[in-house]
This record gives sequence, C-alpha cells and structure tokens, in this order.
Amino acid sequence: MSYKVVKFGGSSLADANQFKKVAAIIKSDDKRRFVVPSAPGKRFSDDIKVTDMLYKCCELAGSGVDFSEDLQMIKDRYNGIISELGMDMSLDDEFATIEHELKARPAKDYAASRGEYLNGKVLAKYLGFNFVDAADVIVFNNKGVLLLDDTVKAVRERIKGLDNAVIPGFYGKTTEGFIKTFSRGGSDVTGSIIANAVRAEIYENWTDVSGFLVADPRIVDHPDVIETITYRELRELAYMGASVLHEDAIFPVRSAGIPINIRNTNAPEDAGTMIVSNDYDFSRESLGHTITGIAGKKGFSSINIEKAMMNNEHGFGMKVLKVLYDNGLSFEHMPSGIDTMSITLETAKLDPVRDKVIAELRREVEPDHIEIEDGLAILAVVGRRMKNTRGTVARVFAAMAHARINVKLIDQGSSELNVIIGVSENDLPEAIRRIYDMFINSEKQ
Ligand code: ADP
Ligand code: ASP
Ligand code: MG
Repeated sequence: MSYKVVKFGGSSLADANQFKKVAAIIKSDDKRRFVVPSAPGKRFSDDIKVTDMLYKCCELAGSGVDFSEDLQMIKDRYNGIISELGMDMSLDDEFATIEHELKARPAKDYAASRGEYLNGKVLAKYLGFNFVDAADVIVFNNKGVLLLDDTVKAVRERIKGLDNAVIPGFYGKTTEGFIKTFSRGGSDVTGSIIANAVRAEIYENWTDVSGFLVADPRIVDHPDVIETITYRELRELAYMGASVLHEDAIFPVRSAGIPINIRNTNAPEDAGTMIVSNDYDFSRESLGHTITGIAGKKGFSSINIEKAMMNNEHGFGMKVLKVLYDNGLSFEHMPSGIDTMSITLETAKLDPVRDKVIAELRREVEPDHIEIEDGLAILAVVGRRMKNTRGTVARVFAAMAHARINVKLIDQGSSELNVIIGVSENDLPEAIRRIYDMFINSEKQ
C-alpha cells in the first residue's frame, strides 16, 4: 500500500480545536499514516509560539535566572489541549525531565525541540498512533549536517512493522548524541525526509493558507492560489522570501520524485498547491497565467564603480570579485555597462567590512568614481511559461513606468525562469502590486 505523509504546522496544532480538525483530516483518508507535527504555534496574531517560549526558558536557564514561571506557561498550553480534548494524559514527568535538563545543561536546540516532542506525544495518543522519537531516526553529523542516507535507513528500520506513526518535526540527534534542530520552520524538512523514507505517494504539508499564493498576502489583497508550481520556480520564490515552505524541504522529496501538496487545515476542501517536477503533465491545469509568482526582499546595497575604458582593462572584473572574495562576500547580481559596473549584495553582510572593501577596491582598480547605494530591494517575477511568452520584460517595465517606480537593476536568468528587478525599498510593495495587476488581474479580463 502506498502512503501519504502529512505534516501539520504550528497554527494547525495551536489548540484543542485545531487538533480536532487535524484528526478529522487524518482519519478521512486511510493513506494518511505518517504524521509530522510542529509545536503549538500562534492561536491569534500576538500570541507566542511554544518554540519561542522554550528558547526564552533556555536563555533564562543559561543566565542562571529562575524560569519556572515561563515553563509553567508552556505546561499550561499543553494541559489546556489535553483537557479540552478530554484525554487522560499527564506530561508531569516529561516537564520534570525538561526542567532538570535545562538546569543542568541549557542547550538551545534541546530546549526548542521539546515543543515538537511533546506535541508529538499528545497527538500520537489522541490519534491512537505509534510515537516515534525523531531523535532515534533523524541523524546529523557532529557538525550539525543532516546525514540523509543514514536517516532514511534509520527511519525504515524503526517503522518496520508499524502501520502508522507520529514523528515530531524540527529535530534529530547528532552522532555524538546531542539533540539538534533544523533552522526555524524546519518541521517541513522532517516531513520531506519521512516522505522520502516511506516512499510516500505524496507529501501533504498542512498549514493556514490554501496553498502557495501568487504574492505575499500581506502585500496583495487576497492573491490567487498557485495551482501548480515546479520545484525550480518554488526555489526562486522561496529564496526571495516567500516563506510558506522551508527551503531545505524540497531536496528530499524532489530527489525521490514525490510531489508536495500545500493544504489548508482550516479549509480541507480546497485543493491547495501542487509542487511538482518539470516533467509533470501541466495540461491538467485549469489556469494558465504567464507568471507563477512574485516575491521580493529588502536589505540590499549596490557598489557602483565607474572607470573610463574599464572594458579594455584586462582582469578588471576579476580584481573586483577578488576583493569581495577576500572579504567573505558573495554577490547577488552584477549588471555592468562599458565604463560602469555595479554589484548588488546584502547590506547586512557588507556592513561589517564596508570601509575596508571600498579602500581595497580603490587600491586594486583605481576607479574614477566609487559609491555605495543602500536601501535597495530585489524582486523576482517567476514563471516557467515566460520563456515561451514574448514581451514579459516589457510588461514588467510598463507596470513600473505607470507607477513611476524607478528600476535600478534588471536581470534575466539564462533559464528564462525569472526576471529580477531592483527598486528602492520604499517602492517594493507597490511594485509587487503593480506586477500582480499587470499579469494576474489583467489576464483575467
Ligand atoms: P506553518 O506554521 O504551517 O509552517 P508558516 O507560517 O511557516 O506555516 O507558513 C505559512 C504562512 O506563510 C502564511 O500564513 C502566510 O502568512 C505566509 N506567506 C508568505 N508568503 C506567502 C505566499 N506567497 N503564499 C502563501 N503564504 C505566504
Ligand atoms: N516549531 C519550529 C519553529 O517555530 C519548527 C516549525 O514550526 O517548523 O520554527
Ligand atoms: Mg512553516
């Protein structure tokens, strides 16, 4: 029998009512046998995620400050869920262990991992499923790098003979025996690994939106849901800050040819977004906009260099890049003219070495003029169909011109999967809205 691996995010498991929805979703499809939960997330917008509460306990413990009140608040959240679900279960022993551990060795990753661990325990009991501790199956080397092959082997070994399991997200254990977490949002990665290990027919990632949206809902009002997106398109958008799914969640399923389906726990009837590989049969799709999605992020700077006859100077670009390399900097884009060259890079990375880099560039390439422009945002318009559609770049420019937004940089990747433009940070939201209008709203009319 083929299985579905289902991962539920923090908001999907934030309280007892959400647990009920999750159980109904799981029970409605017999293939949903392997479940990866996050820790309880926010119940309302200024609520605090259990993960953040745990980080705080650890910080207090580390500075020798009493954290019993904070730990009690976490206990209350779980006890609230347990009692509202009418379950007969006590986490007292678990909390005693956590308190003892944090006092003895306040390790950040251990602390944070307890959110998923405890939620997994509660969910397993509520569903009547087996509990498999992620520490027993998700393996990291002692530098904290995931060992995928060892992990897949350990998962298969551990679940042999089990026809269901709840495996908490977000953490595993190093070969030296320390609990280690992925970066924030990492339960997505666990789900993807489990899907790979059980050769799932699909990896369902259940969250609080009805799929991957064409643009960030905080910028565009009620954006359309993307029906189908390729892994490559998703990666471009995720890199630009569209953060529905952890970046590292793509590789384990992609390599095994398993599609991801983003679904909404609060609207299980919605089909959500299918994330698929390039060879998917796209003729099944009902919609077909030129672009798939738009995302952007702030916090970039541009180093602008001018020098007469730059193009004739042998090794000019190499010298510039060597200075960046020597200072541990990587760059995002490098548009250039005959006598000018600009390098776009993250302001936060540039800041600590800003003066040094300018001084070294002056010395190495003796420019006529050099300056740094801060306050830039980069925006990616992504779509697999752009390649076969003429005039996409012209439409992006037209949208910017109508809004009187100055385009400071433009770059089209050789794959023609995306068009990148740089604008002033203040213009970013409006630029995204204008592009959305140009490609989504106007194509509907
Ligand atoms: P979970 O807790 O289920 O893992 P996340 O908070 O990590 O959920 O991701 C879902 C959130 O991502 C949404 O609630 C939404 O606010 C945000 N988001 C940002 N960009 C997008 C986008 N393009 N499409 C959908 N959601 C987006
Ligand atoms: N609970 C963790 C976090 O808040 C992991 C996750 O939700 O995926 O980052
Ligand atoms: Mg998430």
